[in-house]
Amino acid sequence: MTTSQPDGLSINLATVRAQCDLLQAVELCLAQGITAIAPWRDQVAKVGLAQAARAIRENGLQVTGLCRGGMFPAATPAGRQAAIDDNLRAIEEAVTLGADCLVLVVGGLPEGSKDIAGARAMVADGIMAILEPARSAGMPLAIEPLHPMYAAERACVNTLDQALDLCDALDPSREGGLGVAVDAYHVWWDPHLEAALRRAGERILAHHICDWLVPTRDLLLDRGMMGDGVIDLAGLRRSVEAAGFKGPQEVEIFSSENWWKRPPDEVIATCLERWRCHCQP
Ligand code: ZN
Repeated sequence: MTTSQPDGLSINLATVRAQCDLLQAVELCLAQGITAIAPWRDQVAKVGLAQAARAIRENGLQVTGLCRGGMFPAATPAGRQAAIDDNLRAIEEAVTLGADCLVLVVGGLPEGSKDIAGARAMVADGIMAILEPARSAGMPLAIEPLHPMYAAERACVNTLDQALDLCDALDPSREGGLGVAVDAYHVWWDPHLEAALRRAGERILAHHICDWLVPTRDLLLDRGMMGDGVIDLAGLRRSVEAAGFKGPQEVEIFSSENWWKRPPDEVIATCLERWRCHCQP
């Protein structure tokens, strides 16, 4: 069942990362009736894992994802192993926080490399190395395809189909524990998106939202508030829910020149208001 009550909304804490820490953000979300969040690891580390987990538990918060694991490619075997070790720590942190999934931003090209196929192979190897530990820990892994403009530096998995190909290759029997995060900002343009969402089905573990501004002035830090751009967020939500994912929509906005400069209570209130206006199926 869909709802426009605040419990259908999650705030990815990157949205207010410039203004407040995790504990302050939790208070501001609760003040708006929002009971789901998605923190980043650096935000958790800043207040301490135990204290973050306590605030989440005591307030009965849903954690729609921990951001983030991934970043697997590296120029040397030692670098790739260090990435795997870091992902194993991220899995433990996600378990401690009771997160629904660990989001994987898989990484781009190693420094100096022009071998994107090689980078993609390193990503597959990296996920393979952490899949069983994640399953044992009961922590689903959500591969997040990123818009192709990030292929070099952040993620060489760039479409939902490509992410699903990885899922099928590494988890062919659908044993579980491996899926995708569908972020409107990264996938809205894809002509194969509708079919890919149907293909994804129960592999959808998270749904991130924001808007694509025209013009976009910064490739990383100029994401828009829902309703300020060109993404049909209500239509995307319908497709995501038809595919089977009915969890909260998670607002994730990086906005160095606009939303990060505003009072955080105003930002969160605006997220709720815009989500009610622009994101209902
Ligand atoms: Zn995202």
